[in-house]
Formats: sequence, structure tokens, C-alpha cells
Amino acid sequence: MTKNKALVIFSGGQDSTTCLYWAIDKFGQNNVKALSFDYGQRHAIELESAKKIAQLASVPHQVIPINTFNAIQNNALTGNIEVENTTGENGLPNTFVPGRNLIFITFAAAIAYQDKITDLITGVAQTDYSGYPDCRENTIESLQKTIALGMEYEVKIHTPLMHLNKQQTVKLAEKIGAMEAMAYTHTCYNGQFPPCGECPACLLREKGFKAAGVEDPLLTRANANV
Ligand code: ZN
Repeated sequence: MTKNKALVIFSGGQDSTTCLYWAIDKFGQNNVKALSFDYGQRHAIELESAKKIAQLASVPHQVIPINTFNAIQNNALTGNIEVENTTGENGLPNTFVPGRNLIFITFAAAIAYQDKITDLITGVAQTDYSGYPDCRENTIESLQKTIALGMEYEVKIHTPLMHLNKQQTVKLAEKIGAMEAMAYTHTCYNGQFPPCGECPACLLREKGFKAAGVEDPLLTRANANV
């Protein structure tokens, strides 16, 4: 039986790298492709990480530009404002980019349609997160239905991390052989290597590795200065 082809929405971060290796494990390396979006994120380091990890995993990697988010200036990931450690009036941190995952998944589905890919993988999770509404399971299920209707094409959206906390995600990454690649992932909201160790993303990452009892390969690489 031939395996399905899979497209991984891939940012070069910890979660999407885990998803990339999950997909390779499940669908086979020859059936996996990674997709990144150049959406005007503040830090080019993200796309550099994605490129490096895709090479390491020996999977094709496509980067598509979506400049539209530059027009949405009131968040700290695409706008020109600082990341804050507190939540705003809407109960969300100011790194929330409204609709980002909806748009990413829809574009990914369009590429999947074109490439006859039946399975999409995204690293969204309900747990441990900042409460981004487009990371919830009901949002993803609803979007899967919308895509099937709107494109007349059945794409299955996999969310292997949906119910895992950061500790479990680290354990999963270890189990499926993603740790070498983990050394090249990018998490820090301040776009630094070595990571700042102080922003919400760095702190969450640190908490997960600590709880899992695993040394973070990114920090090992940073300490070795390579
Ligand atoms: Zn940081």
C-alpha cells in the first residue's frame, strides 16, 4: 500500500520540528514536505532555522511569502512593538496575530490540493499555551470541514501535539529522533541566539525540558558556541 503524502506547516520552532519528525515517522521521509511562511515575522532567524532543519531531515522545503500580516501592526510578532509578559484586554498576550493559523492552514491546503497531498500537520496545541483561539481543536475541526467544502478536496489535518503539554512534547521529540534537529530550532520571541532565556517563549521551553528531565540541545549548542 502506498502511503499518503504529508505537508507539515513548519516554522523552525520546537513544536513544528517535532511535527516534522512525527510526520516522517508516520508517512515516511519520501512522502513528507515542509512548508514555511515568510509572513513578515520580526526575526529572519526563524526561517533560517526552518531551512537548516529541513536539510537535516532531508525533506523538501517550500517557503511562501504572505506579506499581508505586515498590515496588522498591533501585535508583537509582526508589528513594531515589544513582547510583553502580561496579557492584554482580550486576555491574550500581545504576540497574538489574529487569524494567523487559519490563514496558514488554508494556504497549506491550497498547496496540498495542487500537490495532491492528503494530510496536513500542524503543531498547534490547546495545552500550556497562551489561549490562542486558532490553536483549539474545535477551530481545527471546523476548518477541516470548511476546506473540504470550499475546495471539494478532503484534507486531513493532524495535530499530534494538541493535547500534550510541553513536557510530553519533549518526550515525544526524543522518542521519534528529533533531538539532533532540536539543536537548531528557534523559540525565543526576541529572536536571539543564544536565546534570551527571559521571554515567555524561552521560559515555557525551559519549563518543558526541565520537567521532561532532558537537556535542551539548543542550549547545549549555544554553550558550545557552534
Ligand atoms: Zn527569549
